[in-house]
Amino acid sequence: MRLTFNGAARMVTGSCYLLETDGEKILIDCGMFQGSKEINKLNYEPFDFDPKKISFLLLTHAHIDHSGLIPKLVNEGFRGRIIATPPTVDLAKIMLLDAAHVNMDDTKHENKRREREGLPPREPLFTDEDVKSSYKFFRAVGYDAPFKLNDRLLMTFRDAGHILGSAIIELWASEEGGSTKLVFSGDLGQWDTPIVCDPTIIEEADYVFVESTYGDRVHEDTGIREDLLEKEVRSAYSKGGKLMIPSFAVERTQELLYYFHRLAREGRLPAEKVFLDSPLAIDATEVFKKNRDYLSPDVRKEFKDPFTFDRLQNLKSVQDSQMMNDYDEPCVIIAGSGMCNAGRIRYHLKYNLWKPENTLLFVGYQAQGTLGRVILEGAKMVRMMGLEIAVKAKISEIESFSAHADKKQLLRWVKGFEKKPKKVFIVHGEEPASLAFEAKLKSEGFRTHVPRMNETVEL
Ligand SMILES: [Zn+2]
Repeated sequence: MRLTFNGAARMVTGSCYLLETDGEKILIDCGMFQGSKEINKLNYEPFDFDPKKISFLLLTHAHIDHSGLIPKLVNEGFRGRIIATPPTVDLAKIMLLDAAHVNMDDTKHENKRREREGLPPREPLFTDEDVKSSYKFFRAVGYDAPFKLNDRLLMTFRDAGHILGSAIIELWASEEGGSTKLVFSGDLGQWDTPIVCDPTIIEEADYVFVESTYGDRVHEDTGIREDLLEKEVRSAYSKGGKLMIPSFAVERTQELLYYFHRLAREGRLPAEKVFLDSPLAIDATEVFKKNRDYLSPDVRKEFKDPFTFDRLQNLKSVQDSQMMNDYDEPCVIIAGSGMCNAGRIRYHLKYNLWKPENTLLFVGYQAQGTLGRVILEGAKMVRMMGLEIAVKAKISEIESFSAHADKKQLLRWVKGFEKKPKKVFIVHGEEPASLAFEAKLKSEGFRTHVPRMNETVEL
């Protein structure tokens, strides 16, 4: 059998691997490339395979860098099955719709520019109609239940502890001459986080495909997140300013709501109001409530509803969001997108980034080429929404909020295999992170490889 790395090789986005075995072609993830203009361009390139010939897409989780090209795949003739856990199916539907809206808006803006430059207009990557057409191909399969794809392929989802419904894939492929077991880590979460369970340790594999987003970094102690958050709110409150938190709509936002809920309950939250200004995050929170069984047992025990509390106000409509432009009280604003390159956070930045009393707090990964990364790296002036904006607000970061395992935790997961796999492929990391993690694994005696984009390996 052979496997081709069609994305997330020496980069963190565009996860997509093509497995060819015994005449069968299956995909593991079909993600969007996200980041700089150059990286975004890759989404418009034709697939390196014929979507009509793919019989299964195994989806590790709903994040757009793993699921975002599904509508394009369906548009181009995919008629197979998309296998995912129940929360992933629910989340993927709302996230893909949101991605369609973002892309249609971006395309509208770009076409104005193209028209001025005398160029023909460009089609959006996909529309909301395309997203809805893809729904019928989804099939939900829960954790730990072996699922037979056909006579020769068997798979099981195991909890990856990254976001609600996220999965590691165990895949057994029989060919003439024997059976081979592949394990795809998907994105791995951290141990001991509040909302989701810990990543599952898998004990056996011939070949392992492991993510390496933080392959070269160790997170702060996760035990102090709540204290760090409290400190940031107190500091913003004492200056009479707003605390803006760009947040990923799924998981990070619900984690923040959980911590703010706890702080409010314990009398440790000075802010009178916490605004959630993201229709997508509001919808995603409903999916979390609906799939309560997938939350960690501890959080289920602690709260009937971890994500709702008195001081929280959801801002769903545009009018509700615009009301915030004139709101001068100190408050917390959670808004998307998590890397500041789209969504309502941009309006909050436009109105607040240039005022020194405010704080912009990053609680998530900022990919290269995004506005978030530029600000985090210390830019004094940024260009956004056609304006030059001075960065006068305090810029803070709490790194331990990451939904990704760090170097130590990735190593813990790989060392969980009782017998060393034939090879460990290191994917889903920027090149320095993947190479650093490879060096660590090599020093532990693992056989490794860091693939390049579009590389094919025989297994
Ligand atoms: Zn992810």
